[in-house]
Amino acid sequence: MKITAIETHVCNARMRNWIFVKVVTDQPGLHGWGEATLEWHTRSVVGAIEDISQLVVGEDPRRIEHLWQMMYRQHFWHGNGIVRGTAISGIDIALWDILGKIHGVPCHHLWGGPVRDHVRTYCHLGGGRMEDFYDTDPADAKRFGDLAAKAVADGFTAFKSMAVPETMPLEGLRPITYAEACVKAMRDAVGDDIDIMVDCHARPTPRMGMRFAKALEPYGLYFFEEPCWPETMEDIAAIQRAVSTPIATGERLVGLHAFRDCVEKRACSVLQPDITHCGGLTEARRIAALADAWKLSLAPHNPQGPVSTAASLEFGFATPAYIICEAVHLDVPWRQDVVNEGFTVEPKGRIVRPNAKPGLGIEIDEAEVRKHPFQQEVLQRSFYRDGAVGDW
Ligand SMILES: [Mg+2]
Repeated sequence: MKITAIETHVCNARMRNWIFVKVVTDQPGLHGWGEATLEWHTRSVVGAIEDISQLVVGEDPRRIEHLWQMMYRQHFWHGNGIVRGTAISGIDIALWDILGKIHGVPCHHLWGGPVRDHVRTYCHLGGGRMEDFYDTDPADAKRFGDLAAKAVADGFTAFKSMAVPETMPLEGLRPITYAEACVKAMRDAVGDDIDIMVDCHARPTPRMGMRFAKALEPYGLYFFEEPCWPETMEDIAAIQRAVSTPIATGERLVGLHAFRDCVEKRACSVLQPDITHCGGLTEARRIAALADAWKLSLAPHNPQGPVSTAASLEFGFATPAYIICEAVHLDVPWRQDVVNEGFTVEPKGRIVRPNAKPGLGIEIDEAEVRKHPFQQEVLQRSFYRDGAVGDW
């Protein structure tokens, strides 16, 4: 059995170009789907997949670990950068899909079988609609409360918001007051039974991140995400130590060694590997073992397309430390047109029952994908009030 081709199918979904990776074999009808979506780096990732494909075309797709080692280590440059890491991840996910299809079982059965009956999901405020999630004015606390109530009305028991505004390196009370008002409005709107998450997008400096964390501590957040730059893990660790709120991070990390650094510094309670960036399902499983060793929770980053979601769910059904699946459902109205999914989402509670189909249980409709060709992603640049470059 041999890999005969690796194709990329780019599908523009407004804020992102989903990069679907199709690994084709010499067995009639046998192929796997992966995803390697990396916003604002679409051409780079497509090129990186083309480069890497020279290593694996002609090889046996069942030797996933062996191929992973080749993709990560060969041709001198290791796969620990975000572009190459994403390219490797997309191919790796597709290889697991193929292996499941060969054996006629869902991927989670390859990894020891289901460890839970359902996976809980959480949404972005506004369902992932770009304007609601990223552009709601932090001065408009009522809007946060309204969107929170809508998420609960849609069946979710947990949601994530960006209630921390873009913040200059040091500011007084203004951004803190905004964040506090937004989180209070959401808590007031949904009560104590609903889990609220706040993502800082690593916008704040370490000290501002600390101040936000302290101000929001009384609201009992489920987790508080990327409170400052991931380049300075010691600073995230200081925030993790200073508050009882669980700190979450990891979506920008590539490779097991980066996560080792994070857990050794005790920087978080929740690891958020992105399965489409960190090294695929193969590396995510190693990161899960690391999480087990340190008694950390896993909540993979997943704002991308439907293959990424299917991969995250398969991983969740086989991974004890997995707590919740990030899910975007309203980013584009035709999201369900490009994919056939093997799992079912229960409207009440938005929990997912296991996929019973082989592999990831999905099929991508290539004709539908072709209706949404590549477009330059919407730019999301950020500048402070004085014109200096900020963090989006
Ligand atoms: Mg995030």
